[in-house]
Amino acid sequence: MSEVFPAPAVLGTDVIGVPQGEELSLDVSLESLSEGIWVSGTVSAEAVGECGRCLDEVRQHVDTRVQGLFAFNDSQMGDEDEESEDVFEFDGETVDLEEVVRDAVVTQLPFTPLCRPDCPGLCDQCGARLAEDPDHAHDVIDPRWSALQSLSEEKES
Ligand SMILES: [Zn+2]
Ligand SMILES: [Zn+2]
Repeated sequence: MSEVFPAPAVLGTDVIGVPQGEELSLDVSLESLSEGIWVSGTVSAEAVGECGRCLDEVRQHVDTRVQGLFAFNDSQMGDEDEESEDVFEFDGETVDLEEVVRDAVVTQLPFTPLCRPDCPGLCDQCGARLAEDPDHAHDVIDPRWSALQSLSEEKES
């Protein structure tokens, strides 16, 4: 089964994710087992987020494997010996691919997306984008000097 469909909901975190409606390319096969349906394949999509330093838009291509067992309610669930990570509940009728796709995509996303690895971020004084203005700086006057400066200004006037 190979198809492209819009993301049913945002797949991701607060800072980055595949937006709702964004195309998801899914290529999976479903295999019927005695304990449920085994799903395996790949998914690819474009995640959109915000740079953690300069707040610019970040786009990241996600291409990852998806796999999971949709187990019948009365079989695998609660069996501590089995790997429980990739086991989803199966009502016997529909396989909710959204769940397995969400799990696969979210684990591929960075905790702190960056527009580029060396993003300099924003000036902490005025919020200017340092990437656009590498020499950006403020004349920082040491408070002790500024006191002297105001004294000398007073004398002059
Ligand atoms: Zn950035
Ligand atoms: Zn500044």
